[in-house]
Amino acid sequence: MPTPKDAAAVILLRQNTDPNNPEVYWVKRSDKLAFLGGFHAFPGGQLDETDTEVVVQNSPNPETSVMISGAARELFEELGVLVARGGEHLTKGQRVSLRDDLESGRMSWPKLLEHYELYLDANDFTFVGRWVTPPFSPKRFDTWFFLANCPAKQEPNVIPGELASGEWVSAGDGFNRWLNAEIMAVPPTLHALKTLSNGLTSELVERFLENPQAHGQSVRRIEFRPNYIFFPVRTPTRPPATHTNCYLVYNSKEILIFDPGSPYEDEQQALAEMVDELRSEGRSVLEIILTHLHPDHVGGVNALKKHLDGNVPVAAHAQTAEALSAVQIDRFIEDDNLISLVGDPAIELRALHTPGHARGHLCFHDEQRGVLLTGDNIVGLGSVLIDPPEGNMIDYLNSLERMRSLAELKLLLGGHGPPTTVPYRKIDEYIAHRLEREEKILEAVRSGLTSPEEIVKVVYTDVSPKAYAMAERAVLAHLEKLDLEGKLKLN
Ligand SMILES: [Zn+2]
Repeated sequence: MPTPKDAAAVILLRQNTDPNNPEVYWVKRSDKLAFLGGFHAFPGGQLDETDTEVVVQNSPNPETSVMISGAARELFEELGVLVARGGEHLTKGQRVSLRDDLESGRMSWPKLLEHYELYLDANDFTFVGRWVTPPFSPKRFDTWFFLANCPAKQEPNVIPGELASGEWVSAGDGFNRWLNAEIMAVPPTLHALKTLSNGLTSELVERFLENPQAHGQSVRRIEFRPNYIFFPVRTPTRPPATHTNCYLVYNSKEILIFDPGSPYEDEQQALAEMVDELRSEGRSVLEIILTHLHPDHVGGVNALKKHLDGNVPVAAHAQTAEALSAVQIDRFIEDDNLISLVGDPAIELRALHTPGHARGHLCFHDEQRGVLLTGDNIVGLGSVLIDPPEGNMIDYLNSLERMRSLAELKLLLGGHGPPTTVPYRKIDEYIAHRLEREEKILEAVRSGLTSPEEIVKVVYTDVSPKAYAMAERAVLAHLEKLDLEGKLKLN
């Protein structure tokens, strides 16, 4: 699990904004980024080593000074907004060229401040919480959030790159856009919008800080989209993944739990607490559902079922049930079956039998919201293992094509790693990647190589030798496919 890196972010308030529902500046991250691509967020980023050299007036301690320097620098780099005393004497043109000097590395942040006799003042940055990215993520940050006022005569602007765009939004509108599933955001962003939407009152900072997660406590309830709780649990899975994503889909009355995969007691306990929190608000668990049979997806089923007094059925595809001995499957789900939640809002998921990674693999499609639970067919982190005979390359590619054919997909929620906001691009990449490998495997075979061991060495030149054993299974799967298609006959 990666150690969180220190980072700072700024919630920028618009000048003369409505104190009852203030406007803040949010940015949309490029959908090409692997980490939170396509998400809405506040400007910010990792600390720079030069941040320690900046003197901050009225700062309570050196640690806070460094964080404020990072926040001010990121704000200037990303939006061109300079929150520094003395900065009011700079013209717009000077600010533009300074931003360019900083971005291009011609001048360091401390030098720039010093050269123009600018200084940072802690009174301009109000600390409103410290959030730590949960351990499931391949990139983790320990981020300090600050509120700051946009100085007069400065207007933020985003230079497209890592950030796609930016705009002022009233806190209430921003939060509603999440409620309406128009945008994706992480918990600290949503917490800030919700808190600010109740107005710039005297107890604003207390309201920001009353959430225990705003003090660096690990975030467990992650709801990138309303009604879909993303709940990664630690599992003995394949690296680089360290967690399996369990999902809780809920409405006012019912809850579905997908892939409670952790065999570890502390993680099972955390999931049970999350489930109990939802139940305490008047909901009941409809079913526990399994996407497929692998241990990192089913390891916590029995414990959860026991926690729920055995009253909840476990559902999966018949081929999953056949192969699983440690878990009892109470109901079979077939291709095209509908699973509906009674209550508000109505939620309906269509099961898709999508074999390839595993024979009985299921995906679940929420047509109304454009959400697809992809199980291990598409993941946000690492690669998908196709290991015959459970794995089958022809089936897998057919399954990917079928997923590709679904209309109006907006979000892929996979079994590992972060979600994907560009579903079709991701599925196309998966298909292209497999076909490219296959082409090379065929070339290797035509050049006279026969065993997967030999073929891996010439085809998988981009992977570490540690991964060769896995790659050999994939080669075998490709060879089976090529053989069935008659493409190996010439040899
Ligand atoms: Zn799997």
